[in-house]
Amino acid sequence: MRNLPIFLLCIFILNLSCTPSMHIYKRSQLLMGTIVEITVVAKEEGTADEAITAAFKEIRRLEEIMSTYIPSSDISQVNAAAGVHPVKVHKDLLLAVKRALEFADLSGGAFNIALGPAIDLWKVTESTRIPSQEELEAIRPLIDYKNIVVDEGAGTIFLKKTGMRINLGGIGKGFAANYAYNVLARYGIRSGIIAVAGDLKVFGKQPDGSLWSIGITHPRRKDDIIAKAHLTDRSISTSGDYERFFIKNGIRYHHILSPDTLQPSRGFQSVSIIAKDSTTSDALSTAIFAMGPERGFKLLEELPDVESVIVRDDGHVEMSSGFKGYPVAIEIIR
Ligand code: ADP
Ligand code: MG
Repeated sequence: MRNLPIFLLCIFILNLSCTPSMHIYKRSQLLMGTIVEITVVAKEEGTADEAITAAFKEIRRLEEIMSTYIPSSDISQVNAAAGVHPVKVHKDLLLAVKRALEFADLSGGAFNIALGPAIDLWKVTESTRIPSQEELEAIRPLIDYKNIVVDEGAGTIFLKKTGMRINLGGIGKGFAANYAYNVLARYGIRSGIIAVAGDLKVFGKQPDGSLWSIGITHPRRKDDIIAKAHLTDRSISTSGDYERFFIKNGIRYHHILSPDTLQPSRGFQSVSIIAKDSTTSDALSTAIFAMGPERGFKLLEELPDVESVIVRDDGHVEMSSGFKGYPVAIEIIR
């Protein structure tokens, strides 16, 4: 997660305002290879600073456990011991992997944290080389997520085959946002936004009592938004084909892979998911994107408490039917 390019937040925070007693404070820091922006409502700057500093520290702590770019991280140790022995890991990594495996099952395997070897072959941010299908097929035996063994009693993770590598790029940022939220809550912060790039945890309301307004980036016009979500006590995540990609011979190659084809998944420009917690919104936005329209829409309709705004590959915008009675509103900008 660390060496991702710094990219513009794909979701903008809009309409900040304040009342005389409560104010909005906003800080950002580079963490998990991206910009993390934390907004809180507090009476005094000192209180806000203390809480935000502790929340950043929490995200850094998780990064040191879960980043494959840090050789000493627990996840790197697990990958290094693939096919050899189980590795005792921090309970937070155990939990993140457990949650990731739940989303793997939920998505029929489309969300797959064992895709590490395929992700490394593509390296869409570092090179524009298209791996051959032979190269990709050669690593297929290494991407079966059923070969990830989580032993909760022993506190270990074991990858059964040598060469396997797990990668939490599709869930780690949302997972970290939830933890940062818990830290802010411990500091008495009741309202704010934690934005780990395109994964946002939104809680409470603005000082004037209004909902927070979150803009969803237009996948083909970076400075525009395609929709505005007005929400409270929900998380929103966007997965798109427009942040990390290259174009060759008119074809866009991006960073969300279909485990079936081992190629970038086709059918969507972006998938935004609104859910109760940010681990769910992060994992599901990646999962639905990887599933593609046919399977993705079917799963979305089955899930309670999950709403979506989706841009198809032809630019058509679709939102889920369930916004009625939901503590959010969506405005599509045309
Ligand atoms: P971002 O990291 O840009 O916020 P996502 O949350 O959608 O976007 O995660 C994309 C990342 O997840 C990729 O960079 C890669 O590390 C990983 N990934 C790619 N394809 C899959 C997949 N099918 N299942 C799970 N993780 C994936
Ligand atoms: Mg994701």
